[in-house]
Amino acid sequence: MENTKDTTMEKVVSLAKRRGFIFQGSEIYGGLAGAWDYGPLGVTLKNNIKRAWWRMFVEERDDMYGLDAAILMNEKVWEASGHTGAGFTDPLVECEKCHKRYREDHLESTEKCPECGGKLGEKKDFNLMFETKVGAQGNAKSYLRPETAQGIFVNFKNVVDTMRPKLPFGIAQIGKAFRNEIAPREFLFRTREFEQMEIEYFVYENDWEHFFEEWRIRIWNWIDVLGLSHERVREVDVVGNDLAHYSKKTIDFEYDFPGKGFDELSGLAYRTAHDLESHIKGSGQRLVYTDAEGKTTVPHVIEPSFGLDRAVMAVLTQSYTEDNLGKDTRVFLKLPKDLAPVKVAVFPLMKNKPELVAKAREVYEEVKKIIPNSMFDDNGNVGKRYRRQDEIGTPWCVTVDFDTLEDNTVTLRNRDTGEQERIALSALIAELH
Ligand code: ATP
Repeated sequence: MENTKDTTMEKVVSLAKRRGFIFQGSEIYGGLAGAWDYGPLGVTLKNNIKRAWWRMFVEERDDMYGLDAAILMNEKVWEASGHTGAGFTDPLVECEKCHKRYREDHLESTEKCPECGGKLGEKKDFNLMFETKVGAQGNAKSYLRPETAQGIFVNFKNVVDTMRPKLPFGIAQIGKAFRNEIAPREFLFRTREFEQMEIEYFVYENDWEHFFEEWRIRIWNWIDVLGLSHERVREVDVVGNDLAHYSKKTIDFEYDFPGKGFDELSGLAYRTAHDLESHIKGSGQRLVYTDAEGKTTVPHVIEPSFGLDRAVMAVLTQSYTEDNLGKDTRVFLKLPKDLAPVKVAVFPLMKNKPELVAKAREVYEEVKKIIPNSMFDDNGNVGKRYRRQDEIGTPWCVTVDFDTLEDNTVTLRNRDTGEQERIALSALIAELH
């Protein structure tokens, strides 16, 4: 059985489409660059990842507060944060011959067009924010937010005033972000509309190194929840020009995407008090924390930041497995059970035997009571159904046959080993519980 280092991304993209995980955005009109749609199984996988994240980083902790801020914000937010200025641009170059545009820092040669060999023009700073107009008069400028983080900073005071948290504490948010990427590419890796899962963790300045280290470990715990193998994840210290001017330390967590190599999955940044200070200056409000003695401080910030779509892409590529059976190859997604979109599939052995179908339905209803993400399938033959469930990563298949009618036992098949065991229905229900 082999997984996946040499798996080509094409196989994953093709499976994702064939099995209803991910479709090209606006496909029937020829698509739209940098936009992808999540199909029935994709949205469930994505929701399962979000839920696991929220549980681990918000619900299971006493020092974390959730937030869902608006995507459209007052334009002054983006002036204060530096996004309207030079801080949020990518270097754009255009070929003078074929007029194709590139991100200069992604090119091997900054002289020649990689497509046609033509001469590349002068580098320009291209701002990545999508601008929009608000209101019937359209005279208020706004932007689709390019990150969720600023929604957290502008609500810092609201959370402090309403929840009375003790420092250190964090605010977490999951939501859409938009960037007019110069060259969206590589499936879900670089899109123009994507989802982020971000935390701003507020600390006393002196404690930043301690909490930076704590969050570094927690990110590894999260990598385990995603089922990513540690050999395919590495930490990279961001240095030099890549390090934001306000950040004293940033680590990128990179995943080894097949056919692409290591690239950023998540980031961990110590952002000093830069963001709150900027909004204090921009808004004139006192964004401070007051301790029990009445001493005030502007907290410093540790920011763990996660790309949800990149997580989906990493989970799909990591779990894609080909099992060589000699005469053919069994393809399956070895998804962590918590993340699998369908947990249990129930089949009648044959679909043209009403008594089997009725019994299978009955078993299915029982199973569904315990595990809502279950599925009934009587299409095609049992072999084909197993293959279909393998490809969507269903951990267990339950088959109802003639013996079930006699002795209330079923066949339980394990996705990863392909092994089948005979098990009493009551034991199955107890086990699923
Ligand atoms: P990159 O260097 O790859 O452009 P970034 O450093 O600008 O990314 P951040 O601003 O740190 O990214 O964003 C936080 C997270 O959001 C990233 O770790 C990544 O997972 C995700 N992300 C950023 N841009 C995109 C995008 N265009 N498409 C999908 N996910 C993205």
